[in-house]
Amino acid sequence: MSTSGPRYEPRYSEEFNKKKDSKALRPHQDNLRRTCERLLINPYGAAGSHRLKYDSAGLRAATVFGSLRVIFKVCEECRKLGDGDLNALDCCESASTSDLTITFLDILDYH
Ligand SMILES: [Zn+2]
Repeated sequence: MSTSGPRYEPRYSEEFNKKKDSKALRPHQDNLRRTCERLLINPYGAAGSHRLKYDSAGLRAATVFGSLRVIFKVCEECRKLGDGDLNALDCCESASTSDLTITFLDILDYH
């Protein structure tokens, strides 16, 4: 098994894809792609990845550029921590989905 390639499989929400292709985020598409690539190798440590709280508990945020954040969820973490009830995704509850699945959900600007 390669130690440098991505270990995790990406999924992308409709919302994520819509924003990624929006005019506002077009200048950041390269940063966005690179950030997602880094997170697919190291979802818990790359790009300032951290767990969110309150309404977003169960999800993670990481830095794309400046105040731009990508919001995502790791099935593995969701299952391990037993926080499936918090912002649960179908993927995390489905036994047919690999633990090593990351769903990129949203792109937000916390300026
Ligand atoms: Zn999941």
